[in-house]
Amino acid sequence: MDNNLVFLFDLDGTITAEETLPKISKYFGIDAQIDILTQETLNGNIPFVESFIRRVDILKQIPVSDINNLLEEVRLFSVVVHFIRQHSNQCYIVTGNLTDWIEKLVSRIGCGFFASKGEVHNDRLIKLTEILKKEDVVKQFKKQGKTVVFIGDGNNDSEAMRESDISIACGLTHYPANSVLSVADYAVFSEASLLRLLHQIQSRQPGKSVILSCAGIGSRLGLGQTKALIELHGKKLIEIQLDSFRKMEDVRIVIGFQSNVIIQTVLKIRTDVIFVYNHDYFQTKTGASFYLGARHANEYAIAWDGDLLVHPEDIEKCLSFEGEYIGCSSIVSDDPVYIQTDADGQAIAFSYDSGVFEWSGPACLRSSNVKYVVDNVFNQIEELLPLTLLQIRARDIDTYEDYKNALHFTRGWK
Ligand SMILES: [Mg+2]
Repeated sequence: MDNNLVFLFDLDGTITAEETLPKISKYFGIDAQIDILTQETLNGNIPFVESFIRRVDILKQIPVSDINNLLEEVRLFSVVVHFIRQHSNQCYIVTGNLTDWIEKLVSRIGCGFFASKGEVHNDRLIKLTEILKKEDVVKQFKKQGKTVVFIGDGNNDSEAMRESDISIACGLTHYPANSVLSVADYAVFSEASLLRLLHQIQSRQPGKSVILSCAGIGSRLGLGQTKALIELHGKKLIEIQLDSFRKMEDVRIVIGFQSNVIIQTVLKIRTDVIFVYNHDYFQTKTGASFYLGARHANEYAIAWDGDLLVHPEDIEKCLSFEGEYIGCSSIVSDDPVYIQTDADGQAIAFSYDSGVFEWSGPACLRSSNVKYVVDNVFNQIEELLPLTLLQIRARDIDTYEDYKNALHFTRGWK
């Protein structure tokens, strides 16, 4: 386990299963004023600091202890709280909320915290004295040499997430703010996937992860959308892939172009996927996406391109094969990347000129062997050769001609 790690959690909507402010305002009958302010703030239309000052001003009328008592009862995500308690010396809550409002709630969770401060007199808030800038907390830990992981969902988390070493957009209560998604390394939408990811960041976990690369713009195909969203026989490619991986616990989807549409499509099918951002999707290829997906993946990472179609009878073989391998097929493409083999049938080189097989993917590698490349997965694999070859029936969809072939290839699949 990496003891140099520090986990910083936003409070509202990340640890609490309901936003605290609407709860306060509803309880004390001031919803109308507060709701508009909250929504506008979450949407990023009112700067956080201005919104916070205005909110505090409205809430000043309520005794501080009343808010403190009310928030102590707020519903929490039990799985998140459990993780925090188990690692309480590495976890902190970082919230813009006022210390005097959340002290009881935080002590119930059981870790250190950073919050805004105010001057209280006779149980009434007199004035604000400090508005917490979450990014300052991140910088402070980084100065101490810590590796900072930030988990948040709101607009006021985005700067802190940008400064963090690893940032997780958390969609447990509501869809994360756009500003958060635009800097996040990961996005998760269930407690199961958040917990799995936190453990993976802490230390390499046993087992396999599937890394499905869906970040590209699909320019050669020319259908104007990322390949994951094109349809074959009435089913989106991403739906076909998820069906193939339904038995795999750790499915990681690397997203870039049209990421929100992909997320929405996936969440209708399963919510425990870990989304990995390749923000540089226009300049990089699947090798970069695989690297990002494998960064905190389980011991073995299976590289699976979003447009790779494997015959149903061969999928199980790809997912359960023990150890490292690379997938190949007989020569089926117009413009293949060939695989050259040695006398034992091991893959020893890729070639544009000749070979017995065609590189098709997938590939299963030890995650720790996956290095960063800007181009293709096979460029990444080259220095790891020789590797075991796994022969399968597969197609990919690079061009419109490939698409038509794939329609033919997949006809009659269950
Ligand atoms: Mg929040």
